[in-house]
Amino acid sequence: MNTLIAKALRRPGNLTRPEIAELLDRSDPTELFRAAYGVKLRYTGRMVFLRGIIEFGNYCAKDCFYCGIRRSNREVKRYCLSEDDIVRMAVWAFEQRYGSIVLQSGELESEENTAFVERVLQKIRVVTDGKFGITLSLGEQDEETFRRWREAGAHRYLLRIETSNPEFYARLHPPDHSFLRRVECLRVLKRLGYQTGSGVMIGLPGQTLDDLAGDVAFFRELDLDMIGMGPYIPHRQTPLGQGIEVTPAYAAAQLQLGLKMIAVTRLYLHDVNIAATTALQALDDRGREQGLLAGANVIMPNVTDTEYRADYQLYENKPCLDENAAQCRTCLNGRITGIGEHIGWKYRGDPVHFRQRVGEAVIRLTK
Ligand code: SAH
Ligand code: SF4
Repeated sequence: MNTLIAKALRRPGNLTRPEIAELLDRSDPTELFRAAYGVKLRYTGRMVFLRGIIEFGNYCAKDCFYCGIRRSNREVKRYCLSEDDIVRMAVWAFEQRYGSIVLQSGELESEENTAFVERVLQKIRVVTDGKFGITLSLGEQDEETFRRWREAGAHRYLLRIETSNPEFYARLHPPDHSFLRRVECLRVLKRLGYQTGSGVMIGLPGQTLDDLAGDVAFFRELDLDMIGMGPYIPHRQTPLGQGIEVTPAYAAAQLQLGLKMIAVTRLYLHDVNIAATTALQALDDRGREQGLLAGANVIMPNVTDTEYRADYQLYENKPCLDENAAQCRTCLNGRITGIGEHIGWKYRGDPVHFRQRVGEAVIRLTK
């Protein structure tokens, strides 16, 4: 066995940044994927956890240079679902035995938005069993908002750092978008007791392997519970997407790098939840399955009504635009059993890392 892989297997965090970069640079990742899959098996067996994602609105106050629904993109038809529609989709996912949902939208900071999400969470809590997992992915907010949403029933939050290199972050965003605020939000989320997730885009123009190695190290530094990362996919109506042609060779390279990031992150962190994100599937029909075989253990099928999907395109080539939630469910089941895994129906699937982190805190407090 490769000595670096053997070293990583010994315990979490057992690689230096140059060693992480060296693993990402391997031209034949077969052994890397196999080892990472072995680590995943150790923590969650052959079970894949589902989070049904509800993309409930595409209004966004931010203008990230890579994103298709950025504020300046005037070609997007903007929408926001009603409270009742969001609750209906959540209940559908609950009744279909999904263990969790994710509520995602553009980033809006206002009392109106805070209260809207708060009411949705309260309603979902009333009609589900209290064990249903609820993740939010609604961008940066102040501490009070995060606290209100936590009290209303959300218990996980996803906020990608996008890149852990502050100078690179500055090149991907307008000047009023702050790297430091994002990091601070992640710290606040942890302090408030959220299972906290972050991640990055992989294969951005100008990104180096050393940047990506720094990202993996950053995940550990922040002691995160969940990692959701995926390949960058150009969108023609964005500044960053100009002039990049998605050729088969480009797509294959982006996919491969994305899979290697999943594997190396699994080898470095061991016990976190890692999502095989939809962006993998946008590059290859079997991208998510390949993600699972490279060490991921979570999938986020879309449960939003079909009519809204085309208006929520963070990147182009988004898959399953013309399928409905029931079709996605059936299709996914076949895909997962096809690789020898099975879906953890009704499992909330909390990250082992979070359980240990919180357990340890409790032990520390009672000593
Ligand atoms: N507004 C919220 C949630 C929606 S965006 C937020 O920004 O946190 C969710 C994620 O989509 C972002 O974090 C970003 O990593 C990803 N994303 C945006 N544009 C993308 C693109 N062109 N390719 C791949 N991922 C993209
Ligand atoms: Fe808005 Fe999120 Fe897209 Fe940035 S990445 S423009 S915050 S939806």
